[in-house]
Amino acid sequence: MISPIYSSFQNLKTQSISFSSNKTNITDNKQAVKETTEKEGISKPLAIGATLGGIATVGAAIYFLSRGHGGAKFKLTDAEQTKLNDLIASGKLDKKYADFFREIYETGALNNSTKLKTKLAEFLGYKISPDVEIDKNLDKSGMALYDVPTGKIRVGEKVDIGVLYHELVHFSQFDKLYRAFGKDAIFEGMVKGAVNGFEFDKLMGSKRALATFGKEFDKLTPEELNKFTSDLRKSLSESFDEDFYKKIAESKGQLTPEELEDAQKYLKALEAADRNHAALENEAYTREIQFEKKFNEFMSIFK
Ligand SMILES: [Zn+2]
Repeated sequence: MISPIYSSFQNLKTQSISFSSNKTNITDNKQAVKETTEKEGISKPLAIGATLGGIATVGAAIYFLSRGHGGAKFKLTDAEQTKLNDLIASGKLDKKYADFFREIYETGALNNSTKLKTKLAEFLGYKISPDVEIDKNLDKSGMALYDVPTGKIRVGEKVDIGVLYHELVHFSQFDKLYRAFGKDAIFEGMVKGAVNGFEFDKLMGSKRALATFGKEFDKLTPEELNKFTSDLRKSLSESFDEDFYKKIAESKGQLTPEELEDAQKYLKALEAADRNHAALENEAYTREIQFEKKFNEFMSIFK
């Protein structure tokens, strides 16, 4: 299961809100939140989830990068090409995907996360893609983050193709939100989501509000809550890289009716801390799973 994660208030300057791949189950997520909250206070991003919460912990990375290929040219052998043709002919793999996977394989993009994200972004319809930064802290889990304000993807060295794709789906979601409603609506959605999240957290027994405010969420005075939301708005606007979002918007042009519909759905999801919040995450997750399934089909030609 994948959960959206919000960074703690203290981390907002640099991180504000991130989404991460997290394929642990509900119990694991709850436990992870609890353990992190207890052990590390609010120094690490804590999750509020839709149906659950979780910090990004264990990712089920395929870790395809370890697949050695002798360093030479990446070219499908005749036998591999025949198997690929069979997959297409049998309907197991659409030609569109087969061509794409063959291309990223033959260009060596599979072994280079920067090249790979560019190709994946193209596949999603983008000429410009977010920067990908390797973050040693993410290594253990094979997890990744899409950092909304800065528009950057942060990954561990073991990031796999599905996780990278997942984060690019988040990037695409926020591109649509930006083009449809602008940055202020994104901030407002994130602020509402954060506040709703504190309440929702109680259901999971998380001590997030306690760690952030030194008291339970429902004990906060209106002034304290106001300060929280205005500080959050401020740090969001300070860290938001509007040039990045503008550049993407200019390259994409006007929203299609479908994109607008998506953006409306995402805005609702952003504001909600209950299960509606899952819309953003579920979409990214569903698309990741689909993508991985097709990728695994492709990889079967090497067996
Ligand atoms: Zn995600």
